[in-house]
Amino acid sequence: MDKEQKKRLKAQYRQNEQDEICVSIPMGIDELKDLLSFLNRESAPECDHTLKETVAFLKSKQIDPKVVVPWLGEHGGFCDCEVIYNVYDDVGDIVGWHLDENS
Ligand SMILES: [Zn+2]
Repeated sequence: MDKEQKKRLKAQYRQNEQDEICVSIPMGIDELKDLLSFLNRESAPECDHTLKETVAFLKSKQIDPKVVVPWLGEHGGFCDCEVIYNVYDDVGDIVGWHLDENS
């Protein structure tokens, strides 16, 4: 396999991975994007190692946390700050939300 082929396969793999994540997201892309900016807002309290802020956001949007929280866990989001860092890593490109643009 030459280098170009490898590169293409890798890109394809990445694309499939993104597609899989994309269909697995248990809420709207826009809502997920809003969640990330909500958690990353200026006045956000320090993370207390729970998903308190995330759950409050979901409830305010009438989204059932029981559906979303396990999904966040699959992507390493076990507390509010991990949602920004770990879940964001997986979905940032999909939702088109980027940390640096918001800081
Ligand atoms: Zn945390």
